Amino acid sequence: MTVLATGGTIAGAQTTRSRRGYTSGVFSIESLIDAAPGIESLADLEAVHVASIGSQDMSESVWRDLARRTQAALDRPGVSGAVVTHGTDTMEETAYFLNLVIRSPKPVVLVGAMRPATAISADGPMNLYNAVATAAHPEAGGRGVLVVANDEIHFAREVAKTNTTQVGTFKSTHRGLAGLVSSARIHFYGSPVRRHTAGSELGLVGVRALPRVDIVYAYAGMGRELIDAAVEAGTRGLVIAGVGNGNMNSSVAAAARAAARRGIAVVRSTRTGGGVVERNVEMDDDRLGFIASDELNPQKARILLMLGLARTRDPGALQELFYAY
Ligand code: GLU
Repeated sequence: MTVLATGGTIAGAQTTRSRRGYTSGVFSIESLIDAAPGIESLADLEAVHVASIGSQDMSESVWRDLARRTQAALDRPGVSGAVVTHGTDTMEETAYFLNLVIRSPKPVVLVGAMRPATAISADGPMNLYNAVATAAHPEAGGRGVLVVANDEIHFAREVAKTNTTQVGTFKSTHRGLAGLVSSARIHFYGSPVRRHTAGSELGLVGVRALPRVDIVYAYAGMGRELIDAAVEAGTRGLVIAGVGNGNMNSSVAAAARAAARRGIAVVRSTRTGGGVVERNVEMDDDRLGFIASDELNPQKARILLMLGLARTRDPGALQELFYAY
């Protein structure tokens, strides 16, 4: 099994134990593995260093490097699966990105921690131990990319970070957990509901740079300026974190409609944190040329839109991707 390290709090260190602040990605992946006694009995591990960043600094170039190295590892017959250590801030974005671009039925598990490695009751060692156990489980393959933290196993499409500090920050509000893992004992509950990994038609082959997609957060009394600024900056797609069922006021809708008429893809998602954004409820998507995000939160809608725009600009075809992934 290959463990790919990208940094994050799981590898983070405080300067002193009494200080609350810390620096992400300080410890090597080898030292993280050493901090989880017994992990070597779960799988033969090889470590690959990809980056040492807090995941707020995750970027397209690191995503591409991570995807390439993960794919290369999984393509080797002797490798049974991959575990990726990652900061929790943007873990759901990386997990969903890999879920769409990796072509393999082998397990891929992302893992992080909320407390730095030097904190009292650091959660990283147990999370890493459980992540390796999950990836080593004979039934882990074919479920798409998974996220393991706090004794829970989540699907990449469903999981979201919901709390700034608590170790139980990850939730899968729509469809529940992929499973539970307690000291390496695994219980799987279900399968992912949409296309992923080996069944995905999306990817990076022939894509030199992903199209720019920006997220705009809606609020009461909002003006159109942020939409216009994104268009002016050359965006190819807009995800609107709308109020309620992906709604926006008439000023924002007029700006978004003008953007759509210029060929910019406009996706309505929601700032609520849950629920389906449906077409043509309070906004006439058919007339406005908008796309509904279905269940994807704004940050995941952005990833699907970037990968989708690399293939097509047709709003109807893009809408179908939001129903398929
Ligand atoms: N900003 C850090 C990161 O995402 C902290 C979050 C964490 O890893 O828990 O890397």
